Amino acid sequence: MNQRTLATLLRYGVSNLLAEKANEVGLTISKVRTLSQRDMVSKYGLTTGEAKALTAAVRRAAIDSGVVQLLLERSNFVCCVCKGMKGHAYIIHHIVEYEKTQDNSYDNLAVLCPNDHDLAHQRGLSLRLTVNQIRNAKTSWEQKVLVANVRRAAQMIEVNDDAIDYVNVNRIEELCVRLFKEIPTTGLTDRLKRARILKKDGSFDQRFVQTKLSGGRYLFDYITHQETEHYKQLMQEIATVTEFIDLDAAASAGRTKLKATEGQYAFFIGGVCAKGPDLPIVAATPPIMMHYSRKNIRIEWILDPMFLMSTSAIARIGGKNRYVIYCLIRTVDKQEGGDILVKASPLLIAQPTTYIDKTPLIAYQKRHERDIAEGFDDEDEGVFGNDFNEEESEW
Ligand SMILES: [Zn+2]
Repeated sequence: MNQRTLATLLRYGVSNLLAEKANEVGLTISKVRTLSQRDMVSKYGLTTGEAKALTAAVRRAAIDSGVVQLLLERSNFVCCVCKGMKGHAYIIHHIVEYEKTQDNSYDNLAVLCPNDHDLAHQRGLSLRLTVNQIRNAKTSWEQKVLVANVRRAAQMIEVNDDAIDYVNVNRIEELCVRLFKEIPTTGLTDRLKRARILKKDGSFDQRFVQTKLSGGRYLFDYITHQETEHYKQLMQEIATVTEFIDLDAAASAGRTKLKATEGQYAFFIGGVCAKGPDLPIVAATPPIMMHYSRKNIRIEWILDPMFLMSTSAIARIGGKNRYVIYCLIRTVDKQEGGDILVKASPLLIAQPTTYIDKTPLIAYQKRHERDIAEGFDDEDEGVFGNDFNEEESEW
């Protein structure tokens, strides 16, 4: 397989299936340019339609490979119209025809399956996909892919360790001991033991750190040795045996579902508020309360300011932030007036990062079916950033 020929053919707007076929029979871009369509059919076994499509494609200017990659990743490698329902083949489609504009920019391109690509090019038929329909499908699908990828990354504790702002080392270690009878070894354990930050049993030596390293202020007030990476790896170990419940989804599912999260571990992604601690942080600095509110529900996380990871984390915490918060749900209670109050203890708080998962996509198909059944309501739209406002209540 010549991956380069494959990738190049995609850039000319050839479908991945036709690109694979051309590649298998040994057709390169330059051969396609010089061969007649008749030869491609008789000597290379293509159909007339395939030969025609290839010849037409390589006359165009190639799309920038970075643009192709971005389109595919943001569309999760499936058609933005049918979300892969019609198969996992795809083609880079010009929303406004290339022949009219020669516009190879991101905005004029969309990922379609060959089937929907045909519909986009069928003139005059009532089934035809219009330019606006494709634009809307692209925008809404890219948003859903983004949200789904962030959620999936969160569930697998896929966060950048330089984006981790808070690590409650004691709670993470307690949980490890409960689950594994000991604290598992990570790639950083030896190094942290040599620095005497970890004791022989792998637990954090808070007394040593406080008296020898931090200068008596907050715990991590020294040049750290990838402590965040160590504790992230421990969290990933924990995630292999413990499901972290999506707290936002549980909250949307109603009182009973939310009440059932008591005593469970969960993650929350979204906009939260907190008032920053008075500086400097000392042993007597009171806990920080971080919260998230929407109609009928309030979630509170109590942070020990000693476990903030850096001065920038301390500066960040006193305001509105978008975080992923891994926590233990302590209580879920109905307040006077009917609101629900959730109290939780955080293990680890990070700024969410996206990552691209290329595995297609049964979950999306299910979601798509549900979207059709429910008439495409965009219930995911609140996940990013706008959660500071009151949202529709689903109670
Ligand atoms: Zn499609």
